[in-house]
Amino acid sequence: MKKNEIVTLTIEDIGINGEGIGKVMNYPLFIKDAIVGDKIKARVIKAKKNYGYGRIEEIIEPSKDRVVPPCFIAEKCGGCQIQALSYEKQLEFKYNKVKQNLKRIGQVKEEVLDLVMEDIRGMKEPFRYRNKAAYPIGRNKEGKLMAGFYAGRTHSIIPVEDCLVGQEVNKEILKTILTFMQNHQIEPYNEQTQKGVLRHVLIRYGEATGEIMVCLIINAKSLKDSDKLVVELQKIAGIKSISLNINRENTNVIMGEKTLTLWGSPTITDYIGEVKFQISPKSFYQVNPAQTKVLYDLALEMADLSGKETVWDLYCGIGTISLFLSKKAKMVYGVEIVPQAIADAKENARINQIENAKFFVGKAEEVVPREQEKYGRAEVIVVDPPRKGLDETLIATMAQMSPDRIVYVSCDSATMARDVALLSEKGYELKRVVPVDQFPQTVHVETVVLITRNI
Ligand code: SAH
Repeated sequence: MKKNEIVTLTIEDIGINGEGIGKVMNYPLFIKDAIVGDKIKARVIKAKKNYGYGRIEEIIEPSKDRVVPPCFIAEKCGGCQIQALSYEKQLEFKYNKVKQNLKRIGQVKEEVLDLVMEDIRGMKEPFRYRNKAAYPIGRNKEGKLMAGFYAGRTHSIIPVEDCLVGQEVNKEILKTILTFMQNHQIEPYNEQTQKGVLRHVLIRYGEATGEIMVCLIINAKSLKDSDKLVVELQKIAGIKSISLNINRENTNVIMGEKTLTLWGSPTITDYIGEVKFQISPKSFYQVNPAQTKVLYDLALEMADLSGKETVWDLYCGIGTISLFLSKKAKMVYGVEIVPQAIADAKENARINQIENAKFFVGKAEEVVPREQEKYGRAEVIVVDPPRKGLDETLIATMAQMSPDRIVYVSCDSATMARDVALLSEKGYELKRVVPVDQFPQTVHVETVVLITRNI
């Protein structure tokens, strides 16, 4: 197989990043945007010894699972990877991804998986779900100002006026900001030259309250004529908070340390179930409110609380799960590495009049070994780690604490499966696995897992 060769093949499988996989004389080709069942003509773009990458030249016969992506830039934009796959098949792909990881990495037997795995919880309307978007700002080749998203794996901006997984109001907000930039000669930041001012626009939406936050991330100490922008933005219904975030570093990290409120409140409010949350521009907050409720309800169900339990909520962010569980527990202890998130968690406990939650700042693998003995036996431990999963020291401490139940909320089923295997060596058994589709149209999947003590 050589570069630029044109081949005909049928797609037989889907890779972990959503790409189609087919074979030409036993040589596997990975093809972006191709779907299982598609018969295609493809161009080889990279040929390695045992496999290669290709691009669709022509779809000879489309798969029955292929749909027309509702977003016309779906293939260029790096945000969604599998819009061309029917939603039903997206869910099947995610379910199988979790299952395969538990089987291969977690060493869980097929018979066990058949017993413990439940259907994936999908959405009725798998668009318009995101409550947060961060748009990079730039100029196109013709010099026109634009807001958009990065193309997959690069930093070239694809202009996006109306992202279909985001809120409709974003379009109006972006238009207002771009017009303001035009009228007041505000330059977008240029990553190559590190000159220019406006880097990103962050928009957050409180689904339950309709409150909107707009935060402009700038490479400057202040924004010229910002009072004029505030007047324009205020005209948009729902705007509750307008702020500047200062980021003067040459970095891929979107936000800097300092945030200045230009107008309104420094936070917006949202509810998950009956618990109220104040969210600042920098705090981590789940992006799909409808599915967050599904996720947390499952966590609550698996925690099986009667009111007498001591619970640890590790990787607690702004205390969302901790506070969600606190009403049914004796006491909840939350641990989180970001100090601002813990400040938010304490404030969130206060505004909900929740007194049985205590929060610690620090690494879970350091705080828990040091603190846990002071607070009595924990019946339940909830963990919700980032993609890299749990630290081995933490797993050892958790086993020592010997809770009856561990509820594992995972955003990466490969590391979750690895941790399930480690916990099973310590006498813990997999009882329930429920994948939840927090991110329709993308290859990502969340899973809530119940692990209980054997003896
Ligand atoms: N449970 C929360 C947050 C989950 S995201 C929610 O549902 O909203 C994972 C969180 O883990 C992030 O807030 C991140 O800051 C935090 N984190 C990352 N590494 C950590 C560590 N070693 N110890 C404690 N928290 C950590």
